[in-house]
This record gives sequence, structure tokens and C-alpha cells, in this order.
Amino acid sequence: MSSIPRCTLIRSTESIQNTDLLPSNLDRSSVVHALIDVYKVHQSLEIIPPAKIRRAHLLEYHDSGYIDFLLSKDLEKYSKEISVDDDDDNNDNDDNSEYGEDFEDDLQEFGLEFDCPPFLDLNKYIFNVAGGTLAAAEHLNRDKTDVAIHWEGGRHHAGRDQASGFCYVNDVVLGILHLQRKFSTVLYIDLDLHHGDGTGSINEDGKGKGKNFNLNIPLKAGLTDAAFTRIFERIMAKVFNFFSPQAVVVQCGCDGLSGDPNKIWNLTSEGYIQAINSIVQTKLPLLLVGGGGYSTPDVARCWIKITSAITQPTTKLENDIPPHEYFDLYKPSFELDIAPSVTPDENTDKYIDEMLLLVDDRYPDDEKECRSNQESKSA
Ligand SMILES: [Zn+2]
Repeated sequence: MSSIPRCTLIRSTESIQNTDLLPSNLDRSSVVHALIDVYKVHQSLEIIPPAKIRRAHLLEYHDSGYIDFLLSKDLEKYSKEISVDDDDDNNDNDDNSEYGEDFEDDLQEFGLEFDCPPFLDLNKYIFNVAGGTLAAAEHLNRDKTDVAIHWEGGRHHAGRDQASGFCYVNDVVLGILHLQRKFSTVLYIDLDLHHGDGTGSINEDGKGKGKNFNLNIPLKAGLTDAAFTRIFERIMAKVFNFFSPQAVVVQCGCDGLSGDPNKIWNLTSEGYIQAINSIVQTKLPLLLVGGGGYSTPDVARCWIKITSAITQPTTKLENDIPPHEYFDLYKPSFELDIAPSVTPDENTDKYIDEMLLLVDDRYPDDEKECRSNQESKSA
């Protein structure tokens, strides 16, 4: 591999349109790709569409009852109807009796309420979000690329049989399962502000067959780029040494940016770039997916910088954003850079040091493993 990795971006007009309708992130996909295009970053990589997948592909992880309901004619009709209601601002049509008596129960059972409502073309969306990450994984499996990026993916909260946390199908799990056809050890790194389901404190290290394969680093409010980079690089060195992964999947939800409405972490694009660069430098096959991020212009600012840092590392993107369709969203600065806020960092040196010591204990250095890992990295 040359020093600049081969990079593939997975997108299509249809997948962007479908993802634009995701209620938690309306139009985000179009905004992200418009910025990539106006900066001509798309010319520095290969573009392929999501794979045309079938129901059976979704069943590699998901429960058939859940998928059947997601793909049902009733749900499709209901999604169309409520989207028309939204447009008309007409709230007097809450009668769902025409869908059969179990319909309401099914909506509830499968988590299709509150933050995961049905929406127009949900059936097409789930095929595109899963098909995009599966196309990325397949491209890596066939050694057609080194880094495959699917910004519409990263829906890490979706359960086997229910929607959760703005996520309907778990493309991350599907992508990892697909990579495991070729790579026996796949490392999954989740950078989202909200941990993937099933983790919590630093003492939760996996359950059942996954025992000891999970590392959770709970970080507090006000996290800065400097603290994040220090923690990430130290821990990744330990994890890479201990597990010797053959491929890496990174969920790069960026709701930890300083300007995110969650207002918890205080990261800028530079923190995420440092983390992703350190993974790229391992030269392992990398599948990069999106995730959270609720200031749409900031997400676009961050993801275009990450994409460009991978594909054209010596090029600095002009800080003044070029005029384009979504230009007004970038006011008042109309700049690409994101500034940190003045939020105090609750991740004290003492807290970080204690956590790093626990990680040292869990993944003790072994000289032989260290050496062989270094050799394979420099090969
Ligand atoms: Zn999140």
C-alpha cells in the first residue's frame, strides 16, 4: 500500500434522499455530500452505491418478525399517511383501526414510537443504510480499497428485534459480521457521544461469549481534543497490541463536537481527525461509518475534514466555505473550522490516569506480541 490509502465513499442519490428523511437528522445527508462536492473532495476517492441487498441480508442479525413488520405493506401505507398528515399539519387523524388490531401493539413492541417513528420510505431507507455498510465491507473483503466510508451508516443502537435511539437497522453489526467472513478479528471502535447499547461503566467488559472483548471508557463532560487524543492513542496502542485485529470498524458519530445541541463534550474536528489518522496509520482495512451529530453544519464540517485528511493528507481545505446550495447553514462564520467552547473539562488528569492504569492492568504488555505487532505494522 502506498502512503495514501485507497479510499471509497459509499453513496447514491437514492440513499442520500432516503437518509435525508431520518427524523433525527433531517437533510443531514444532502448537506454533508454537498460540502464534499463543493470542496471537490469526491474527486480524491472512488464512489460506489450501496449494495442491492435482500431481506435475507438483514436477517444475518435481525429477527425475522421485526424485519417483516418494517417491510410490511401496512407500515408502508401508515408511513405515507403520517407524512401527509405532517405536511397538512392535520392532527385529527389518529385512527389506525384500518391496520388491524395488532398494528398499534406491533409499533410499540418493535420500538417504532417516540424517537424512532415510522417515516416515509422507511423500507427503502433500511435497505440503503444496511446495503451501504455491506457494500463497504464487501469492498474491503475483496481488497478493492483500504478505507471504505459510509457516512449514512453507524446506526449502533438498533436492536435485533427493535428500533432504538434513532436507529432502525444495525448496519454496524451487519458490516462486522460481513467482514468476519474474511477477517477473523475485527476491532470495533465507537466514538459517538452515546455508547453503543450494552456498555456503560469501565467495569463492563462484555457478557457471555463476549466476556473480556469489550472495553468501555466513560468520559465526562467538557472533553477536549487534547484529553481525547491522549486517552485514545494510549488505549489504542494497548488494544492493538493485545488483540492484533485484522480489520477495524469505526463509528464516528460526532455529537461530541463543541457545538452539538447535546452540549456535553467539547471536541473539534481536529480531535476526531487525530483519532481516525492514528487508525489509518495502522494500515489495517478500515470501515468508517457515521452516527450521531445534531448540528448538521458541524457534522458536515467534521466529516469532510476527516474524509479529506484520509484521501489528501497534504491538502489543507480552504477555511472559507465556498458558496453552494446549503451555504446559509454555515452562518455566521461561513468557515470550516469549529472552535471549542469555554466548557470546563471534568475529565481531570487524576480521573484519566486512574482509567489508563485500569486499562494497563487489563491488557498487560507482552514483549513478544509487541515485537510481532510492530513488525507487521512496518511491513
Ligand atoms: Zn450519539
